[in-house]
Amino acid sequence: MSGKILIVDAVATNRIVLKVKLAAAYYEVAEATSGAEARALAAQTRPDLVLAGADLPDAQGADLVHALRADPALAATPLVLMQAHADRPSRRAALRAGADDVLEKPFEEQLLLARLRCLLRRHHGDDDLHLHAGTVQPHGFAEAPPPFAAPGRVAVVAPDARAARGLRAQLAETGRNHFDALGAGEMIRAVSGGAAPDLFILAVPPADSESALRMLAELRARPQTRRRPVVAVLDEPDQALAARLLDMGADDAALGPTDPEELAVRLDAQLRQKQRNDRLRDRIQDRLRAAMTDPLTGLYNRRHALPFLDRLATTSAQEGRPFAVMVADLDHFKQVNDTHGHAAGDAVLCRVAQLLQANLRGDDLLARIGGEEFLIALPDTPRQRARQTAARLCRIVRQAPIEVAGARIPVTISIGVALDAGRAGNGASPDVHGLLNRADRALYGAKAGGRNTVTFATRSAA
Ligand code: GH3
Ligand code: MG
Ligand code: MG
Repeated sequence: MSGKILIVDAVATNRIVLKVKLAAAYYEVAEATSGAEARALAAQTRPDLVLAGADLPDAQGADLVHALRADPALAATPLVLMQAHADRPSRRAALRAGADDVLEKPFEEQLLLARLRCLLRRHHGDDDLHLHAGTVQPHGFAEAPPPFAAPGRVAVVAPDARAARGLRAQLAETGRNHFDALGAGEMIRAVSGGAAPDLFILAVPPADSESALRMLAELRARPQTRRRPVVAVLDEPDQALAARLLDMGADDAALGPTDPEELAVRLDAQLRQKQRNDRLRDRIQDRLRAAMTDPLTGLYNRRHALPFLDRLATTSAQEGRPFAVMVADLDHFKQVNDTHGHAAGDAVLCRVAQLLQANLRGDDLLARIGGEEFLIALPDTPRQRARQTAARLCRIVRQAPIEVAGARIPVTISIGVALDAGRAGNGASPDVHGLLNRADRALYGAKAGGRNTVTFATRSAA
């Protein structure tokens, strides 16, 4: 995996040993000897991850983490602290300050590399999310997670439900979250129906770690849970097992003996990440929706409508069902603007959009494809039903009382209709553009025929 790693350590031999290991794993490595140098280098090189020794000349432990995190270039960068005697209070303090993990020296190379892979996986995933959500700032500084997580629903799971309940009891005393305890079978049942919890804590018993690994694989594979953070909790300091769990998709692994306070800090960090990522995904959804929607009427726009027609034509041809396409255009709409003003014209467009929408079926498509022009697609619709529908839409708009600013405005529409029999010959892909052109030409016919009327396209040669 590619990645730029910044090593921060005052001791030259420590840096050299690490650099050799990381270079052998194909990482690009930069080195700094103090917190100040690390910040200067980070601003220039934008590392993907920082690996810092805890004893630097200008800061130590949690203070070092604070100092690095205060820099916008490092606010969201994965950060691992390496410490010789990581007692409980100093580990908790470093994690609270924003370290992603504290590795206690001496640690095995496979744990270090699995840790880096896990954090880089998340970091690159975050970059993608920011890119799509449009939240990357000019210099590539992504938004850091918020300082506090809202309370979440946490499922404590274990191969054996009793072990899950034991860990839940310890955690329940530490936090504001809602905890459930579930055994393996209950976990599968709980996640297959209903809403999945926000986060999973997976208790990994030394005697049955294989069952726990299988549970992790289940969580990573299921659509309801594949994006939920999983924190693995090991009863013992088994580094090889922690490395396997991280490589199989756990987002964090706490080595035993369990410190519930430390676990609560890790859990909070994962919840913050998740809540930030959920917000980014919502923002992406909003952007997608906005890109497909006409802001005036709230209807779909042309960008949504044309691919929809393509899909409709393909499935109709596969299933041998006819469908209809209509282009509806307001008559003499320019006069509405000229007489009542542009704002009144806008209100008329919205009202007509509502009238059309209210008189179509749920799976029909209505889109605004031009200034005062609408596209209507009717799946599974033969000629006779298309004729009735078009006539009804014309009548409803003509008869509707459209009132804007106290004035009743008479409005009519003309509709051109083209039919597709749902028989694409010889496996050829259906000609959606040809169909739309025919509906357009039929619309001209309706205009020429006096407006406020429906005209059908002549039958296609196909
Ligand atoms: P026809 O019956 O031949 O369709 O006549 P028309 O006046 O409706 O057609 P024309 O193409 O001459 O004019 C369309 C008008 O629609 C002109 C334009 O100002 C107006 N229009 C287009 N988009 C909007 C809009 O978003 N809001 C408002 N208020 N008017 C719009
Ligand atoms: Mg018009
Ligand atoms: Mg027009």
